[in-house]
Amino acid sequence: MKLLLATVAAFAVISTISAAVRGKAPTKQLNDGNHIPSLGLGSFGFDEIRKMRQAVWDAVQAGYRHIDTAALYGNEVEIGKGIADVIKQGIVKREDLFITTKLWNDKHGRNQVVPALRESLQKLGLEYVDLYLIHSPEATDAQGNTIKVDVAETWQGMEEAKRLGLARSIGVSNFNIEQIDRIIKNSNFVPSVNQIEIHPSNTKEKEVADCFERGIVVVAYSPFGFFVSRAGGGNVVNRNDPKLLNIARKYNKSINQVILRYELDRDLIPIPKSTNPQRIAENINVFDFQLTPEEIGIVGSFNQNKSIFD
Ligand code: NDP
Repeated sequence: MKLLLATVAAFAVISTISAAVRGKAPTKQLNDGNHIPSLGLGSFGFDEIRKMRQAVWDAVQAGYRHIDTAALYGNEVEIGKGIADVIKQGIVKREDLFITTKLWNDKHGRNQVVPALRESLQKLGLEYVDLYLIHSPEATDAQGNTIKVDVAETWQGMEEAKRLGLARSIGVSNFNIEQIDRIIKNSNFVPSVNQIEIHPSNTKEKEVADCFERGIVVVAYSPFGFFVSRAGGGNVVNRNDPKLLNIARKYNKSINQVILRYELDRDLIPIPKSTNPQRIAENINVFDFQLTPEEIGIVGSFNQNKSIFD
């Protein structure tokens, strides 16, 4: 009997570990052959930097394998500590994780890109990131004044980062299609990802279609848009809209889960940010239902082409 119980217990532990290792979000193939988990943890919040170590731990426990950060966010050290914790505890291996960071605007010179990435890697305590993004097409000097640097030049630095193995995949963020085409025309590498603001109040069908036509995966930042209240106020969408509530009731999900599912069903990769363990778990619990085309239309009908970020 004791042996049987021990065997059952051992099996339970093994199956918990293997479920944890796999993660909850299915992956999507990028145009360079690498794979990105189809939902990630966002991490932007200057007043929450100290919470990010715990948030990474909670997220990995909840089944996340994809974490989004940036040099700008000032949280790479804390995120790195969270990553070290989950690896040290044997919950995941480095290769199970997909870590994104971003090049800030004041390092757009071709020869500034690799040193900037090395600095991020040192803060993260990693040898490579899975995805390195040009945070924005706008270049500035160290004081933040706009300067002119061709995005094709910055992209050469990004290619160098990939060649050196410091970034497994490279991409852009906040780029329009003209800027992306400028890169494509001057390079052998098509960006793997464009990370842009998408949510029900800013659905960007045209931008998404343009990226898909070029084989570029679209990551949706600020995926909740105006459905969550934001510092600075204003523009909060009525969460009690009966059409939305009906969809949420039908699947026994929250409005936020329905919004994330809307983005997944449009083939986008949402990166919801939360530092709250319940909400972190809630946000990845979206892989057991799917919206109908009609429901996708209902969620998209909140579109006002309105951005949170300029
Ligand atoms: P989100 O749409 O992810 O919203 C985050 C807010 O929603 C927080 O206030 C959070 O609070 C709250 N929240 C999270 N989950 C829930 C839930 N289930 N129910 C109710 N409220 C919830 O906005 P972000 O702007 O943070 O975007 C996500 C990520 O995208 C960023 O964190 C960053 O990583 C990236 N980003 C990239 C940009 C770029 O230029 N490339 C620009 C902006 C963002 P709480 O933490 O208390 O749960």
